[in-house]
Amino acid sequence: MIADLSAADLEAFGARIQADYDAFRARGLKLDMTRGKPAPEQLDLAEGMLALPGNRDHLTEAGEDARNYGGVQGVAEVRALFSGTLGAKPERIVVGDNASLAMMHDSIVWALLKGVPGSAKPWGRESEIAFLCPVPGYDRHFAICEEYGIRMIPVPMTGHGPDMAKVEELVRDPAVKGMWCVPKYSNPSAESYSDETVRRLASMKTGAPDFRLFWDNAYVLHHLTDERREILNVLDACADAGNPDRAFVFASTSKMTLAGAGLAFFASSEANVKWYLARASKRTIGPDKLNQLRHVRFLRDEAGLVAHMDKHRALLAPKFQTVTDALTSRLANQGAARWIKPDGGYFVSVDVTEGAASRVVALAKDAGLLLTAAGATWPYGKDPHDSNLRLAPSYPSLSDVKAASEGIALCILLAAIESESARRRSEA
Ligand code: PMP
Repeated sequence: MIADLSAADLEAFGARIQADYDAFRARGLKLDMTRGKPAPEQLDLAEGMLALPGNRDHLTEAGEDARNYGGVQGVAEVRALFSGTLGAKPERIVVGDNASLAMMHDSIVWALLKGVPGSAKPWGRESEIAFLCPVPGYDRHFAICEEYGIRMIPVPMTGHGPDMAKVEELVRDPAVKGMWCVPKYSNPSAESYSDETVRRLASMKTGAPDFRLFWDNAYVLHHLTDERREILNVLDACADAGNPDRAFVFASTSKMTLAGAGLAFFASSEANVKWYLARASKRTIGPDKLNQLRHVRFLRDEAGLVAHMDKHRALLAPKFQTVTDALTSRLANQGAARWIKPDGGYFVSVDVTEGAASRVVALAKDAGLLLTAAGATWPYGKDPHDSNLRLAPSYPSLSDVKAASEGIALCILLAAIESESARRRSEA
């Protein structure tokens, strides 16, 4: 432990780490671990899709011409293909275009302008509304709330989902209309919600009768080990608890097929799907159904989808292993950081000592290594502890991930040594 070192040992250790960091910086690398983007090799896995559906193949099973307008809910066989993954019957699924984030955004804007089933008035006409935001969480969720003036209330994650005692207490306030949830392999902590967490979210008493869980199951099939984690079906849990309209479920194939040209999904109760389609059909005459056909032709069935995800795993798992190996070899038992080895998802979340995260990001930047801004995993970009870092190892090559991980470990150590030295000076 750095904190236990004698003054002389701390100084010697600091000098050694500073020399390693200087050597790292002198390599003049340009590394980027900021965003959870699939690597080119992952996109190549779906290259065959670009030739599909192919000449003259434009009819759906029902005989609709996929080249034409219409079909706002999405092609039936596509909804059937993703039904198991989404945990909803095909008739309770809407297929959107290439971004689930857009479907989340639209749902919030429509709720603000029109209300949702069960609303006494549009959310935008309430004097104030708020969302619960488990932290660390996804910055783009928080950006939507910030954009539309929805107050964000952070709730800590526990290792098996958000702190439910806190959630149950906060949600009694009728101003709390929604909650962001990334229930499986969460962004960024990689934790999955326990069955008990899902049941409590489904059954808790809410002050707002039109409260919604924004259930962003972005990493539903994104396993990194052969233990394919399952979580409780939230739509069933809500229905069982007598709250059938509570959850809006979202997912997409952004990290299954093509991040910029995949399919997005909304799945929910009958009333919510009707509500969604009524709004969506004002917004568009129909989605890109050729892309939907391309996806069924390429993936074929759920087994095809799962097999495709195994190929992603083969490319991603070594990168995650490299990050956690580097952190372990440099940082184990130093008291400088805590992290867990993800078993799915796209991120490694690292908690460094309080007040050190922005220093780590600055040290890394100085050495040619871009990290997600400190604070990004908190509402308004402000981590009150300045301690959470989100590492995204998917995009860089394996050798770049190795170099970057080594660099990150050095920056964390250096920041920890600096703050320990400063602490001792201030106590002296
Ligand atoms: N939700 C989460 C939790 C994510 O991490 C991401 C991508 N990083 C998205 C949604 C974006 O999904 P899409 O590409 O479908 O808009």
